[in-house]
Amino acid sequence: MSKTNESRVVTDGQVVSLEYTLTVDGEVIDSSEGHGPIEFIQGMGNIIPGLEEELYGMKVGESKSVVVPPEDGYGEVDPDAFQDFPREAFPQSIPLEPGVTLRFQDEAGNSHLAVIDSVTDDTVRVDFNHPLAGKELHFEVKVVGLRDATDEELMHGHVHGSGTHD
Ligand code: ZN
Repeated sequence: MSKTNESRVVTDGQVVSLEYTLTVDGEVIDSSEGHGPIEFIQGMGNIIPGLEEELYGMKVGESKSVVVPPEDGYGEVDPDAFQDFPREAFPQSIPLEPGVTLRFQDEAGNSHLAVIDSVTDDTVRVDFNHPLAGKELHFEVKVVGLRDATDEELMHGHVHGSGTHD
């Protein structure tokens, strides 16, 4: 019933432990180094689709370079996601300079990150796109563990760690 580790490959319903390094524009922006591999259930859309797709069939110990175009990653830059605000709309404590990250709360009370795109004497243009929108994502990944997801994990659609959870 249970497969040997040698024959086990990444398929839907497998819990994948993955070491990864994410490079964007030649700069490493995220890595499992330091905080350990990520764990997710393959086929559940827990990770970006362009990466998940490339993992099928990989074995434990196998490494791969994956390039994910924007449309399979965080999407293209949406020109409608820029919005102008008067300078007075911002608290004094926020430096109004391009590149500064802001935290906004929408009407539903969810908080979103946005970045100041440009600033004039009167207005501040804020970019509400995902910071990685329009970017090509370069992943170096290594599968370091595979196991069957439990029925409960499959029902919840996410991996259960050793501790308590939602
Ligand atoms: Zn759960």
